[in-house]
Amino acid sequence: MHGTSFVRLTRTVPARTETARQALRDALADGPLTAHELSARAGVAEREVVGHLEHLERTAKARGERFVVEPARCDGCGFEFKKRDRLGRPSKCPVCRSNHIVPPRFQMPRTV
Ligand SMILES: [Zn+2]
Repeated sequence: MHGTSFVRLTRTVPARTETARQALRDALADGPLTAHELSARAGVAEREVVGHLEHLERTAKARGERFVVEPARCDGCGFEFKKRDRLGRPSKCPVCRSNHIVPPRFQMPRTV
């Protein structure tokens, strides 16, 4: 049920992927952070971060853990990007067409 067209990471999962996810989890515990910040902290390419986040969100839900998303927001008019593609970073506001978009931020509070 994931309609994000630009992310396809459901091929085979190399060990590197597990390492990247673990690094992201650690970074998310210190959140909320943007995909850009997570990328820098976890050493994962920013374009790969969203795919990992989708996976982490799914597993978090399955485990009853919290995965917090602060949706992206338009800096021009305050419009919030709350649709299901909210994990990605929108480039333009559909309302006022501003490209000053505050990117979404993510957090997975540590439960233990
Ligand atoms: Zn706007």
